[in-house]
Amino acid sequence: MIEAPGFRGAIFGEAADGDPRTNPAVRSHFSGRFGAPDRWSWVNQVHGGTVLAVDEPGSAGDGDGLATSSVGLAVGVATADCVPVIIEGTRTTVVVHAGWRGMAAGVVDAGVAAARVGGDTPIRAAIGPSIGPCCYEVGTEVLAVLDSYVATTTWGTSSVDLWSAAEAQLGGLQVWRADLCTFTDSRFLSHRRDGTTERQVSVAWLSAS
Ligand SMILES: [Zn+2]
Repeated sequence: MIEAPGFRGAIFGEAADGDPRTNPAVRSHFSGRFGAPDRWSWVNQVHGGTVLAVDEPGSAGDGDGLATSSVGLAVGVATADCVPVIIEGTRTTVVVHAGWRGMAAGVVDAGVAAARVGGDTPIRAAIGPSIGPCCYEVGTEVLAVLDSYVATTTWGTSSVDLWSAAEAQLGGLQVWRADLCTFTDSRFLSHRRDGTTERQVSVAWLSAS
């Protein structure tokens, strides 16, 4: 697990950590190590641009991000190359799942907007481990949509830089980036590398203090 520095509650899980959305033993592991709550809410991710506000545990339905102002409720997304983003406000925390489709749909923007609900102010954001511009080879369809973020893979083909695309949508927030590529770092699950259906989980919560 990777803890984003300076956040009240922001953890990016690794493959070995398991899936805390559905496994209570894994939730205990997250809780014991970092003090994460054992009440969790998650979404059925659909590669869209919707961020849902939640105050209860369990599945919140279709969406690609969750926002909560409830102390003691963890919100999580699952990824294996897509970009997990956590946004902290003074009284709100938000977690977002963003692949190229979500990025194009403005899901990170929607996450920032969700952190403003109720007059709160988003302060900082963390961009977790995900496929980097080094490895995210894409075709013309994706290049056309994210044409401001075209990069080059280490083997010389066209890629897009999802980290920079996310950072652009985070505007003037303080941004921490893991800068870890799931495709090349074997600690992480990578759908592109392994075709896996397993996911690592990123979780955010508001601590009492
Ligand atoms: Zn890479």
